[in-house]
Amino acid sequence: MPDTIFGQIAKGEVSADILYQDEEVVAFRDIGPQAPVHVLVIPRKPIATLNEAQPEDAELLGKLFLVAARVAAQEGIAESGYRVVVNCNAGAGQTVFHLHLHVLGGRPMQWPPG
Ligand code: AMP
Repeated sequence: MPDTIFGQIAKGEVSADILYQDEEVVAFRDIGPQAPVHVLVIPRKPIATLNEAQPEDAELLGKLFLVAARVAAQEGIAESGYRVVVNCNAGAGQTVFHLHLHVLGGRPMQWPPG
């Protein structure tokens, strides 16, 4: 499977405003922010959608959430509140087929989401 733009960011082939990275996870600012803080958290492993995640990915999936919380704290939105979103497949609005968590905050959030 060819790399998506996020796969290229994870490999350092495409630049991004990276806020956190380790051997398994990268977090960077979304180029089209939908809130004052809009960060994407991705695994380096190219999992296309949440549907493709396997039982052996359980620890990695947990780590994505821990990094989301870490970035939220770093960005100063942990206490005011933030939303973590995963769009799975086109009907939910997924456009980049490399699993990612959206971390959105810095403004009031509506419910239900659109
Ligand atoms: P989704 O619609 O859930 O697949 O989210 C994809 C997100 O990736 C969108 O919010 C885009 O604005 C964002 N995006 C696309 N290309 C880049 C890029 N090169 N750097 C940062 N964010 C990007």
